[in-house]
Amino acid sequence: MNKEIYRQFGLDDKVLAFADTVLPSVQEEFARIDAIAEYNQAKVLHAMQECGVNVTHFNPSTGYGNDDMGREVLEKVYALCFGAEDALVRPQITCGTHALYLALSANLLPGDELLSPVGAPYDTMEEVIGIRDAVGSLKEYGVSYRQVDLLPDGTFDYEGIRRAINEKTKMVTIQRSKGYATRPSFGVAEIGKLIAFCKQCKPDVICMVDNCYGEFVEEKDPIHVGADIMAGSLIKNPGGGLATTGGYVCGRADLVERCACRLTAPGLGKELGANMNLLQSFFQGLFLAPTVVASAVKGAAFAAACYEKLGYRVVPASGEVRHDIIQCIELGSREAMIAFCRGIQAAAPVDSYATPTPSAMAGYDSEIIMAAGAFNQGSSIELSTDGPIRPPYAVYFQGGLTWYHAKIGVMMSLQKMMEAGLLNL
Ligand SMILES: *Cc1c(COP(=O)(O)O)cnc(C)c1O
Repeated sequence: MNKEIYRQFGLDDKVLAFADTVLPSVQEEFARIDAIAEYNQAKVLHAMQECGVNVTHFNPSTGYGNDDMGREVLEKVYALCFGAEDALVRPQITCGTHALYLALSANLLPGDELLSPVGAPYDTMEEVIGIRDAVGSLKEYGVSYRQVDLLPDGTFDYEGIRRAINEKTKMVTIQRSKGYATRPSFGVAEIGKLIAFCKQCKPDVICMVDNCYGEFVEEKDPIHVGADIMAGSLIKNPGGGLATTGGYVCGRADLVERCACRLTAPGLGKELGANMNLLQSFFQGLFLAPTVVASAVKGAAFAAACYEKLGYRVVPASGEVRHDIIQCIELGSREAMIAFCRGIQAAAPVDSYATPTPSAMAGYDSEIIMAAGAFNQGSSIELSTDGPIRPPYAVYFQGGLTWYHAKIGVMMSLQKMMEAGLLNL
């Protein structure tokens, strides 16, 4: 390939040469990623064929959105792809937190208890649950919460979980992705074992999985291994970069029906909800999602290989089997986080001229730095990086609609780190 094209971004020969030395080491991993994408592409395609998707299913609906055939077919396709009885896939679900809140608030009643057997949940879930006081939290509605932390080696504390499950335990919430923690993400098979254990302790307990960042990273998703319900965001994996907003919940039909009644109103349920002319992007985004996710996972694998070779701690390690699209890189200093993020920003198709700068953010106790130049605001299936400015000064790198874009992002991060005198290639 003619590498002249990369000079336009200000990429130094040393960076290009370094990337070339790293690429052979990720080829085996890339082959695994491609095989998963191939499987998931066939899964999505078959679901669309089974459901008889046709162009009228992309028609817009307005107002109440009564008799919206496209919306109903889309939800069938999601259910089929994820092995669920039913699904709720809506632009009215604002984000991942909203989807998770729906699944929890619709299925927990006053006096019930929620258990997290995998330690602390994602930041925004603290207010949903009421770990941090918030208006409208589950706690305000009389739902209690219990948490069993992971063992020091990152595995499940089965004894602790057995002890924590009691007559009030109605739901178990399992977060697949590490989010912004330094624990490992869980594999679908591991989640299946945990669910089986919880059900052995209490057969009627409802197991929910926060599947954010996990969809299509493996051949199976959590419902395939026994989860009763799972939820996620459409501006992450399953939207394939095309969905401009939205979230989904899928799983057992009775649980999804309760979510629909919570999203709209009791008695209305799934029957209502205009599609805002977004159906084509939801269908087409889902169709592209397996390969888009594969691109993002390749970007993460390449980033891990580059930074590991330079001596940084990366989670997951290079070559490790991946369970989500997130790559954590411990850069060790504020300056390195800034340089890295500036590289990612400089590689963006949108807002490439912006300069990421650490700043305070509501809900966080340290400054945060973010790099994102996305077509959809806040979309993290698109190339982006963020992290709290505190030890171990870790950045969370994720997304990339195409592998080639993710590659440019990683190379630009190396370039900016080198220019700042933080690494020698
Ligand atoms: C992104 C994410 C959420 C919340 O999603 P938002 O769309 O940002 O509200 C919840 N859990 C995990 C693991 C996530 O990655």
